[in-house]
Amino acid sequence: MKFVSLLALPLLALAPIQQAAAEQFTTEQLQHTAQIRQHAQNSELSWQLVESLTTEVGPRLPGTENDKKAVAWAKAQFERLGFDKVWLEKAHFPHWRRYHESGHILTPSKQPLHLTALGNSVSTAKDGLTAPIVLFETLAELQAAPAGSLAGKIAYVNYRMNRDIDGNGYGPAVKARSSGAVVAAQKGAIGYMMRSVSTSHHRFAHTGGSHYKEGVSKIPNVAIANPDADQIARLIALGEQVTVHINIQTEDLGQGESYNVIGEITGHSKPDEYVLLASHLDSWDLGTGALDDGAGVAITMAAAKHVAAMKRPQRSIRVVLFAAEELGLWGAKDYVKAHSDELDHIVAAAESDFGADVVYAFESNVHAQSLPIVRAIAEQLKPLDVAYIGANSARGGPDLIPFERAQSSPIFALHQDGTDYFDYHHTADDTLDKIEPHKLKQNTAAYAVFAYMAADAKDKIQAK
Ligand SMILES: [Zn+2]
Repeated sequence: MKFVSLLALPLLALAPIQQAAAEQFTTEQLQHTAQIRQHAQNSELSWQLVESLTTEVGPRLPGTENDKKAVAWAKAQFERLGFDKVWLEKAHFPHWRRYHESGHILTPSKQPLHLTALGNSVSTAKDGLTAPIVLFETLAELQAAPAGSLAGKIAYVNYRMNRDIDGNGYGPAVKARSSGAVVAAQKGAIGYMMRSVSTSHHRFAHTGGSHYKEGVSKIPNVAIANPDADQIARLIALGEQVTVHINIQTEDLGQGESYNVIGEITGHSKPDEYVLLASHLDSWDLGTGALDDGAGVAITMAAAKHVAAMKRPQRSIRVVLFAAEELGLWGAKDYVKAHSDELDHIVAAAESDFGADVVYAFESNVHAQSLPIVRAIAEQLKPLDVAYIGANSARGGPDLIPFERAQSSPIFALHQDGTDYFDYHHTADDTLDKIEPHKLKQNTAAYAVFAYMAADAKDKIQAK
């Protein structure tokens, strides 16, 4: 009797939660998972991909020749890696170019001003724009300025974003970038300038998306490097009137066209259901788009390839390299439109678009009945030092926002350490040397484990 109960112990001892997870994956599947994890951790593939993209193509502003080269590069790589299906889907976006940008502080003492035009900004006059600046510490202070009070001035928002592992400083800071020029123009300003959305001490200005509003005059719109922002703050604290000269030359080329590039590993028994691994192929024009988002492109492509190399799952794994994310998630919006009647075919969606530092936590946003699958995946991510966040309220990356709005896809977050991400984000300093190969391998292994298990679980993961 004693002997029998000992034999039965492993099964009987399983808590109900573990039992539910065990029903989703066989021992053999868990062995495949371990093999995929190990294979990805030892592979140079994601490094080779990001090195190739950032070296052979470089920056990838939507609509440029480089953007076209990137589309051809991605299609060729998917084919070379043996993806079962490779195709392009059209994406449209507002086509914008940057040609020249320069600046100076003129008074009280002439000195260079390191700046960059924000995406979508109009040009100054050919010979630039010279005006005194009025400092506001926050966008809310600028919003509170009386109408007409900034006539003939450049409005300047000096908001400093905070540094944190999950990048929580970005959301509050980015509001001044996306709509600051509109608010400034409503108060009568003839230009808008802001401290970069950045945690860096380096003298690089950070670009990024911004927009205008119908019926509000479009004024030149720039960000300055943090050390220059500190300099201006010190001059103003001395009681000086600071006058600046900025010259930016840009062009609005109307509607542009590019492509979401898609590669699929086809599932063996439920090919229509798929795990969506997202990243974006475009980048800003200042650096080579290594962290944002060459790393994500490499991680997602390599992760799917590693799964296919070891074990074909029941469901498909679809890697979508979205177009024109930086200018406003245009590729993702077009994808959701084109696939609106089949978004419930997505069994799990995750985006890698937060640099190349390690994945430190895993979180879901799924129906409660699918949590046993989530916990089983989390268990297999533990050997990679990835913690499980059980709140079940994950937000995906930016390209998943249109999917979240449609509310038909289970969303996952593989949280990356973003402590240093905003030192480089959207600058000339976003280059390959900022990526550490061993961290890229850990990321790739985490995505591979996630993709395989979500695609091969017994039950389909359900959306909330
Ligand atoms: Zn990005």
